[in-house]
Amino acid sequence: MSKYSAPQKFIDLASQQDLIRTQIDESIKNVLNHGHYIMGPEVKTFEKDLTDYTGAKYCITCANGTDALSLVLMAWGTGSGDAVYVPSFTYVASAEAPAQLGATPFFVDVCPLTFNLDVDSFKQSIIDSKEMNLKPKAVIPVDLFGQISNIKEIVNIAKEENIKVLCDAAQSFGATFEGKKAGYFGDATTTSFFPAKPLGCYGDGGAVFTNDKGLFDVVSSIRLHGKGSEKYDNVRVGMNSRLDTIQAAILIEKLKIFDNELRLRNKIAQKYSKSLNKSYKTPTVMQGHVSSWAQYTLIDHDRDKIMAALNSENIPSIVYYPKPLHAQDGYSSFPKVSTGLLNSSMLSNSVFSIPMYPYLKNKDQDHIISTLLNLKV
Ligand SMILES: *Cc1c(COP(=O)(O)O)cnc(C)c1O
Repeated sequence: MSKYSAPQKFIDLASQQDLIRTQIDESIKNVLNHGHYIMGPEVKTFEKDLTDYTGAKYCITCANGTDALSLVLMAWGTGSGDAVYVPSFTYVASAEAPAQLGATPFFVDVCPLTFNLDVDSFKQSIIDSKEMNLKPKAVIPVDLFGQISNIKEIVNIAKEENIKVLCDAAQSFGATFEGKKAGYFGDATTTSFFPAKPLGCYGDGGAVFTNDKGLFDVVSSIRLHGKGSEKYDNVRVGMNSRLDTIQAAILIEKLKIFDNELRLRNKIAQKYSKSLNKSYKTPTVMQGHVSSWAQYTLIDHDRDKIMAALNSENIPSIVYYPKPLHAQDGYSSFPKVSTGLLNSSMLSNSVFSIPMYPYLKNKDQDHIISTLLNLKV
């Protein structure tokens, strides 16, 4: 067999750009012409597009997905003495936002099938945190790799305890549960438009979604330095977190092709799963869910050997995430659930993600699949 040598990409943003380059150039040119670089008309248009798309009543765009979490937590008055329940197996931003506000991120374990917050571990965390005299304040279910969390059960538990639900949909924009899109669930949802996320811009960007008019008003104010009724009226301590007009203009164009991209991602994921599931632990999509496939992630205790073999075939693979948050130096002093974080640790030791983007070519995917299968014969 001849050696396949063309290096593959992990995420190929250039092929998407080729497809809509004319529209993107035009939209950037419009912004340069009107000159409203901050909070220009495209920002409002894109926020309207986002509410139409997600079904959420209100949307506030902001500077990035981490700020989006902070904006909501600030609006809820989160601070010292408050427990904010966060999965340990996630990107650091989910825990960073509560920690920055002086609240206590409380580490909860995840489900090994979905990679998302485990409901029993969440229940135990509430009990544990009360014993530590922390006030149960909010939970941040993270929709890791593109699948919406076990949101019904989480909301039920949270309601009983008067805990706010802040869905971190940085990786699941476009995903659905029972036909409803990410952005619709919880007391609020946040997302990120970092270039490599399912809907990415050409820089940083983020958004908050909610159905709560009161929250919408406060987050809108905090985003603009705690603005009151006029520009130089400051009614609360806020922050500076706006989405650039140019990024909004780019995102308007990208959203137009996004549903087609989601279809392509799902087709690619289905082919991976069908071809690999006899030899590998492939991702589980739960009943009623459609993932946005931010990542396609396998679990294997021989990960290092597999990744080296992929690399020798010029196929990139990446570990998201090699260290659970409770084991990170910056976060190891925060409390964790008494029943342990075994799944978070196990996943950090065994997951790896393979190329996933809408424009992954058939022949490249076939090469990835055959390389992986050859390792298991
Ligand atoms: C990317 C990401 C964020 C942060 O988004 P930024 O736009 O990079 O600030 C938050 N949570 C999760 C789960 C993410 O993957």
